Amino acid sequence: MNNFEYQQATTSVEAINLIENHDGSRFLAGGTNLIDLWKYNITNPTELIDINRIAELSEIRELENGGLRLGAGFKNADTAYHPVVEQKYPLLSKAILAGASAQIRNMASNGGNLLQRTRCYYFYDPEVPCNKRVPGSGCPAKEGYNRIHAILGASEHCIAVFPSDMCVALTALDAVVNVAGPEGNRSINFADFHRLPDDRPDLDNNLKPHELIVSIDLPEKGFAANYSYLKLRDRHSYAFALVSVATALELDGDTIKEARIALGGVAHKPWRSAEAEDFLRGKIANAESFALAADIILSGATGYGHNDFKIKLAKRAIVRNGLMALNPESQLPGAQPSA
Ligand SMILES: Cc1cc2nc3c(=O)[nH]c(=O)nc-3n(C[C@H](O)[C@H](O)[C@H](O)COP(=O)(O)OP(=O)(O)OC[C@H]3O[C@@H](n4cnc5c(N)ncnc54)[C@H](O)[C@@H]3O)c2cc1C
Repeated sequence: MNNFEYQQATTSVEAINLIENHDGSRFLAGGTNLIDLWKYNITNPTELIDINRIAELSEIRELENGGLRLGAGFKNADTAYHPVVEQKYPLLSKAILAGASAQIRNMASNGGNLLQRTRCYYFYDPEVPCNKRVPGSGCPAKEGYNRIHAILGASEHCIAVFPSDMCVALTALDAVVNVAGPEGNRSINFADFHRLPDDRPDLDNNLKPHELIVSIDLPEKGFAANYSYLKLRDRHSYAFALVSVATALELDGDTIKEARIALGGVAHKPWRSAEAEDFLRGKIANAESFALAADIILSGATGYGHNDFKIKLAKRAIVRNGLMALNPESQLPGAQPSA
């Protein structure tokens, strides 16, 4: 039996005060990842601070700068089906609907999605070493069964990948994460929110202790005309990505004015290559250009045996998704949601 205390916060300030004053406290949003980790004995909170009643976290509203603010407590399903998201940011809608199941998306919050933990088998097994779970204990995945693991940005200490779909689209869209904490409020560019493992794989992101994610801002530009999210996985639904690609294009006829390509399932954070995106500027939007961009993105890719196939898979996915982004008709928001 795990004994724990339970508190409900109604404001961000109250939530931060509560978490600061109790070692072992954790924020509780939808609980779809936290409770699983608890059941597996990966985390053992002594107090839960329920943040579901904080009004500020539940809002979704258009910003004066033309962007959209997504509350951290707003649910994944409500976000994906929100009319402004569907019309202006269909890439985000499609990425969210490619994740988990309808039931989980109804519970899962936007903030919790950013903070979900890796699905590395070794991380989930407390009987084996794992540098992410117990720093310094080792990484059996490197020599072990590593079919789902990283091909980019890994370190000798960890080859786990970050599993979110939503965050791949948020990376491509240049979202900004607004957080509140004991030292005040700050905003973090999405590209800087998650981190590579280096020698601290126990740290997934750059949040400071006791910080609360309040909201996520989308800039005005939503790439609604030319976008695509492609998720390749072992099962069509209810499975994490082996490789996913979010592509957003701004075109002038056949010519690429701006390209954004973010990959999921390949690294400890959603992966973007400024070099590849610069390369695509001014190029004709065709399979050849996307293939050359894929070569740039994957130039440093390394497999660990079982996951070697991901390098070829990622290249093909980048090309296919680039071509799919040219045909927005096939990208209707909400089309083919995961079961
Ligand atoms: C079977 C299954 C399949 C799944 N498949 C997919 C998939 O294919 N793609 C995908 O992207 N996701 C998938 N998910 C993950 C799912 O999207 C996440 O579990 C969910 O988004 C987490 O949100 P939550 O609100 O439930 O977070 P919680 O479980 O409540 O919290 C997760 C973590 O975030 C912290 N936290 C939550 N909110 C905040 C906040 N505002 N500020 C600071 N800390 C906070 C909590 O303390 C906890 O540490 C799957 C999950 C399950 C169980």
